[in-house]
Amino acid sequence: MSKKHGKNWDLIVAGGGASGMMAAIAAAESGAHVLLLEQKNCLGKKLSATGNGRCNFTNADMDLVHFYGNRELAGRALSRFSLEDTLSFFHRIGILPKQKNGYYYPHSGQAASVVRALETELRRKDVSVCTGEEVTEILPLPAGFRVNTGNNSYITAKLLLATGLFAAPKLGGGASMVRLIERLGHHFSEIVPALCGFCCEGADFAALAGVRTDGRITVYIDGEEAAQDSGELQFTDYGISGIPTFQVSRTASLALAEGKQVQASLDFLPELGVSGILEELQLRIRNCKGFETTEEGCNGLLPAKLLPVLIQKAGISRKTRMKELSDQEAGRLAETISDFTVDLVRARGYESAQVCAGGLDSAQIDPDTLESRLVPGLFFAGELLNVDGVCGGYNLQWAWSSGYLAGKSAAAEAGKGAV
Ligand SMILES: Cc1cc2nc3c(=O)[nH]c(=O)nc-3n(C[C@H](O)[C@H](O)[C@H](O)COP(=O)(O)OP(=O)(O)OC[C@H]3O[C@@H](n4cnc5c(N)ncnc54)[C@H](O)[C@@H]3O)c2cc1C
Repeated sequence: MSKKHGKNWDLIVAGGGASGMMAAIAAAESGAHVLLLEQKNCLGKKLSATGNGRCNFTNADMDLVHFYGNRELAGRALSRFSLEDTLSFFHRIGILPKQKNGYYYPHSGQAASVVRALETELRRKDVSVCTGEEVTEILPLPAGFRVNTGNNSYITAKLLLATGLFAAPKLGGGASMVRLIERLGHHFSEIVPALCGFCCEGADFAALAGVRTDGRITVYIDGEEAAQDSGELQFTDYGISGIPTFQVSRTASLALAEGKQVQASLDFLPELGVSGILEELQLRIRNCKGFETTEEGCNGLLPAKLLPVLIQKAGISRKTRMKELSDQEAGRLAETISDFTVDLVRARGYESAQVCAGGLDSAQIDPDTLESRLVPGLFFAGELLNVDGVCGGYNLQWAWSSGYLAGKSAAAEAGKGAV
């Protein structure tokens, strides 16, 4: 019996983030009596921070290539709760969608309004919510579970864990639930930070910090090309960041965890190619007078803070006049602009990662229900499972789809609604 509520629950959902709130709503919609437990003092803390506070909650292009880990899990959950279902669900609870280049945001431009809409829907569906309740113990019973927190002990027929993984600990990420789940017999695959920047060597990053410029990043693992993306590249005092870096981060992060050599080649003018850059440099050499330094001669080509670093990396003295650049020096500079190679030393860590790659061993999960194959009545949703997406709303779409599927399945098993 739950001391606090004096009744048995059909379903307890642990974790009041994106997937947990969706799971609780889906289960309650089927008629289940649901209790949602969240360790923080409010629901959806991470969700409030998504999309730079604007919440990129899904994407017009739901091709499975945008998901990593176990694509079968992603595909099954998306077929139960699709992009269209997501848009109509959120519209129904008050979120008017706004699309920009395929990325969907709430029209309010505020992630907080998504959290508020979900909270209101939880109330409408009579879901009981307890915040400040960290699940610290899970005890399987002959028919159900005892769930202990620091304050209370609850009994439930079904249990759904939606507690996320390690990313963004200040917003709710943490390892404690992983240990509880392992005690129930489940295994996790290698977990690494993803959608994150990298600490790098091979350039003067203190001088480059703050530079943002469009370009292409190509990741090489042990010398083999492994991933590529384009967009706004960003330099920080520790290394590289920005959306294209995030998009290739999963591949790089896993390779680093395996002890492989990981390098990134940055192309700052991919639209020109080496020969086009060389032509541009030769034009400038012809047009300039004798007094301009190479840096002055390259003005307007790339951000001012980037130029001296490129010139130095190309082995050209800062004193060299643009007019005096030899063919070899101009060639080296063109090569450096199109292939600026840095060594990736380590991923930036969970504090600044948006998600984790890796998760629960999928062989131990039924993909049609997201129920544990080891512990009947135990369900999972969200980042705990081995699915992650690239930037663009895919991680939240996974949270909505997996939350819906697990919530409906748990309710059906509790004798409420159909799967
Ligand atoms: C800064 C940032 C920006 C992001 N922007 C986007 C974006 O724009 N679009 C996108 O698609 N994705 C984005 N993401 C990723 C997205 O937020 C996550 O993929 C998603 O929130 C995962 O949902 P979840 O429900 O699995 O986990 P979470 O949202 O992390 O929720 C888990 C919840 O469980 C709680 N919890 C943990 N342990 C316990 C316990 N023992 N007992 C009780 N409660 C517990 C936590 O406090 C937390 O509230 C972003 C992430 C970050 C950090």
